[in-house]
Amino acid sequence: MSLQLKIWGCRGSVPTPGPDTVTHGGNTSCVEVMVGDEAALVLDAGTGIRALGLDLVQRGTRRIHLFLTHLHLDHLEGLRFFAPIWDEKVTLEVWGPRSPVLGLRERVLRAFSPPLFPLDFRDVPARIAFHDLPAEPWRGGGISLVADLVLHPGPTLGFRLESDGSSLAYLPDHEPALAGIVGRSPDWISGGALAAGADLVLHDAQYLDEEYGARIGWGHSSVDDAVAFCRAVDARRLVLFHHEPERSDHALELLQDRARALTGDRQLPPLLAREGMVVELG
Ligand SMILES: [Zn+2]
Ligand SMILES: [Zn+2]
Repeated sequence: MSLQLKIWGCRGSVPTPGPDTVTHGGNTSCVEVMVGDEAALVLDAGTGIRALGLDLVQRGTRRIHLFLTHLHLDHLEGLRFFAPIWDEKVTLEVWGPRSPVLGLRERVLRAFSPPLFPLDFRDVPARIAFHDLPAEPWRGGGISLVADLVLHPGPTLGFRLESDGSSLAYLPDHEPALAGIVGRSPDWISGGALAAGADLVLHDAQYLDEEYGARIGWGHSSVDDAVAFCRAVDARRLVLFHHEPERSDHALELLQDRARALTGDRQLPPLLAREGMVVELG
């Protein structure tokens, strides 16, 4: 089975509804990867997961695997409004980064208690299990998923998914330039092994180069660095992800122009991530 994915949210940092973001969307990170059986595979639980949840209820999906890159709120805050968790027939497996401070369950549950939320996690009827990553590669529905730690504040993962010879890397919050990109072999670049030779790389491109100088170390990439990263790891195509909240639809088009101007002949032209976008590989 070839890899097929759908983007339910691709905005960075905070939801941005409004007339200026209608085309590319204002919901924060959430991507569904089709697994071709009764289950669902979801990457991150930003506000995009709310609409996905309604869709999964319609489809009657009751077994869901959720992989969290990290626990910054823009990747978690949709989970409370993910309709399947309010159904006792649903089983949700949550995978996320290990922390030396607190278990994954305890860290996620902070968002499910007063005063942040009126209900307590004990009131959630679905069966929910928590698992630390990285571990052995996860396999299901003909797909394998590998996780690795990447450069971003706090324990943060990137993912590589493979199926039938096609491959996808998901690196929504990532600043590989902090440790260097150009002139290094892929295994010496943050996220390099995850994205090496991938057909598609969904990568952080939050800033323009002229904005990045004042934001070094914040954990995000300039569009120039996202393009340089994909070139250095020999990925086939970049999808610009984690859009800056201030960026209107028109400004995003200019960012895409910039990415395309920087991309050489060996790669396909970069694309802007857009809510509702479906991509099929292979
Ligand atoms: Zn983020
Ligand atoms: Zn983050």
